[in-house]
Amino acid sequence: MKIAILSRDAKLYSTRRLVEAAQQRGHDVLVLDHLKCDLLIEAGHPYIMYKGEKLTGIDAIIPRIGASVTFYGTAVVRQFEMMKVKSAVDSQAIVRSRDKLRCLQILSKAGLGMPKTAFTNYGVKVKELIQQVGGAPLVIKLLEGTQGLGVVLAENEKAAESVIEAFHNLKARIIVQEFISEAKGADIRAFVVNGQVVGAMKRQGKEGEFRSNLHRGGTGSLIKLSRAERAAALLAAKTLGLDIAGVDILQSKRGPLILEVNSSPGLEGIEKATKQDIAGKIIEYTEELVKKKRAKKEKR
Ligand code: ADP
Repeated sequence: MKIAILSRDAKLYSTRRLVEAAQQRGHDVLVLDHLKCDLLIEAGHPYIMYKGEKLTGIDAIIPRIGASVTFYGTAVVRQFEMMKVKSAVDSQAIVRSRDKLRCLQILSKAGLGMPKTAFTNYGVKVKELIQQVGGAPLVIKLLEGTQGLGVVLAENEKAAESVIEAFHNLKARIIVQEFISEAKGADIRAFVVNGQVVGAMKRQGKEGEFRSNLHRGGTGSLIKLSRAERAAALLAAKTLGLDIAGVDILQSKRGPLILEVNSSPGLEGIEKATKQDIAGKIIEYTEELVKKKRAKKEKR
C-alpha cells in the first residue's frame, strides 16, 4: 500500500512513528506537507500538485493537521477524499472537533457529561453570566486555543469579570466554564482508534498548575479507565465521527466529564506512558480501510 502522512514536519515524533510503523508493515510511505499541496478542481477530475508533480497512486492518507492551519489542511484532506483516497480521519470531523463550542454542543446532544459551559455575545451582563455557570472560581477559554494556551482560571468573581471583559474588548471569542476543582490539576487522555480505546494516560499538571497539558509541563502516566470513562471516550469519538481521536476527560464527583476531543492527538506522551505501539494501531486501521474499499470494488 502507498500511504501518505499529511504533516508539516517529518521530524516530529508522531510523524516519525507513523512512518516507522507503516514501513515495518511493508508499506510505501511518504510525508506530504499539506501547505505545499495545490488543489486543482475541475468537473469530474480533482487532483493535487505537490512540488510541481501530480500526486498519483496513493491508497490512503493519515492527516496530522495542526490547529493553526485547519482551513487549508482540511481542504487538502477533502480533496483526497474527492479523489477517492481513503483518509484515516474524515475532513468534516476534523473541522467539527476544532471548535470547542461546536464540539461541546454536539457532545451535549449525545448526553455526554461536561463542565457547565456558557457562550455569549459581547456586551452581556458579565455578572449574570458568571452566576449561570455557578460563580467563581471558573475557567475562561479562547474558543480556538490549544495546548492549554488561552485557558485561564479566574479565582474570584472580580478576576473573572476583568478577564471576560478584557477578552470581549479584544473581540476574542471565549467560553466560560465551571471549574472542576476535584480534578486536582489532572485529566485523562483516552486514545481511540476505530471504536477501541488503544491506550489511556492520566496527565498531571506541574505543582500549582490547574492545566495538565504535557506542553505546559504536565506528566503522563498509565491509567486503567473505569467502565464509564471508557464508554464516554468511545461515545465522544463516535459522535464527532472521528475514527482516530484523543479524548480529554476530567474525573469529577458526577462522573467523567468530556473536555475536548482532539483529531490529531500526539503520539509521544501516550506511547511513552502506555508503552504501546499506538502508531502501529493507526496503520492497521488504515490498512483495514483500504482493504474494505478494494473488496467493495471487486464486488461491483
Ligand atoms: P486546550 O485545548 O488548550 O488543551 P483544555 O480545555 O483542554 O484546553 O484545557 C487545558 C487543561 O486545563 C485541561 O487539560 C485541564 O487539565 C484543565 N482544565 C480545562 N478546563 C477545566 C475545567 N473546567 N475545570 C478544571 N480543569 C480544567
